[in-house]
Amino acid sequence: MSENQTWSLEMSEFARKTDNPLRKIWESPNNIPNPLIKLITLQIGDPTVFKNFLAAPETKEAIKKALEHDNFSYTVSPGLESSREAVAQYVNKNYESLTILKDLQPLTSKDVILASGCSMALEMCFRVLANPGDNILLPQPCWGYSTWIVGCGIDVRYYNLDPMREWEVDLDHLESMINENTKAILINNPGNPCGNVYSKEHLLDILKVAERHMLPIIADEVYEFFTFPGVQFYPLAALSKNVPILTCSGLTKRFIMPASRMGWIVINDRNNVFSDVRKGLFNIAGRNFWPNSTLTKALPDILKNTPQKFFDDNSSAVYNHALSAYNILKTCAGIIPIMPKGAMYLMVKIELEKFPKIDTCFDFTQKLLNELSVGVFPGFPCFNFPGFFRIVLTVPEEMIIEACERIKQFCEKHCKIDSEKYLKSG
Ligand SMILES: *Cc1c(COP(=O)(O)O)cnc(C)c1O
Repeated sequence: MSENQTWSLEMSEFARKTDNPLRKIWESPNNIPNPLIKLITLQIGDPTVFKNFLAAPETKEAIKKALEHDNFSYTVSPGLESSREAVAQYVNKNYESLTILKDLQPLTSKDVILASGCSMALEMCFRVLANPGDNILLPQPCWGYSTWIVGCGIDVRYYNLDPMREWEVDLDHLESMINENTKAILINNPGNPCGNVYSKEHLLDILKVAERHMLPIIADEVYEFFTFPGVQFYPLAALSKNVPILTCSGLTKRFIMPASRMGWIVINDRNNVFSDVRKGLFNIAGRNFWPNSTLTKALPDILKNTPQKFFDDNSSAVYNHALSAYNILKTCAGIIPIMPKGAMYLMVKIELEKFPKIDTCFDFTQKLLNELSVGVFPGFPCFNFPGFFRIVLTVPEEMIIEACERIKQFCEKHCKIDSEKYLKSG
């Protein structure tokens, strides 16, 4: 190296384009609570942090048992066969009672790939279906899928969910967003951040659009069966013979094990149109994305032994939290909560024209934190949906109630019908 040479090192395009919008919130200089008021955060979708939602005792037993026999040898790249078979059986049982198809072929281990969490399962699906320059259709609002897509040079296009119709897909808009470079439609049901749970009829309508355009669906069902009383969840792949569907799920949400990093892809391909894609998924699995051996070995017992009561108790507790939050928030000036039907979240619309000193939902959430120490995520940039904020419902109920009371106080202070701003907004 001569004296006048300097190092010139840059991050890759992949790194430059990879962005997690939640980081913008954490890194914002205004991200400071009021030092005089105890902070309540309704931000992070991890139900375990306050220990009020924890994995079932059967899970720890299964892991202890697996640990005794584990040598920590490498497992095989799509995941241990016996564990993949256990996922196939679990899914078959779920489909059996809910399918509308007469001759549904049972899934086997060959249709299951284990991955390091549902996120990695989703990334594998994005990358097996799309090349740089292709696009994947995402719901709007949605969870941070683009973090796993955009860095790879794949584009995202957004289709609308309608808050006035319980967050159903705007089917005409969905269809209008499809172009010659579209490679897949992502459907998230039950959904984050909206808590949407779609009816069988609505899912059939979505499938019709996919079939008409011969597009596969990536079904993010990580909140499968996490629904409130009286609401039925339908696995998308139990409703269609013709549309090839990659269903992604895992232990993170239904089994309350976010750090287990145990996720999976189920390849639903009744007409053998995915044979090349299937090979591609096994190729990508060769990058060693599989979850750790102890969890993998415990998986069959976790799936078999977790009692139905565990799931029922969790969803009814979250439902009660949702009701408590909804009942306070609906009395607040200038905001409109939208009651969810499942998952762990509730979205709230801000009638920004009624808040003269607040410009955006981001601004709303920062001032709420600065003044009353309540942390919530703004619809934009977090979920690509301006004008809303999301609250997490797995926080202990008394904290949710206290936070919602403070939101009410905040709205009373800031909500004013400002005629000048009203006129400007038309
Ligand atoms: C939490 C979550 C996931 C996946 O989480 P992992 O921790 O990677 O298993 C996927 N999709 C949605 C919508 C989620 O909320």
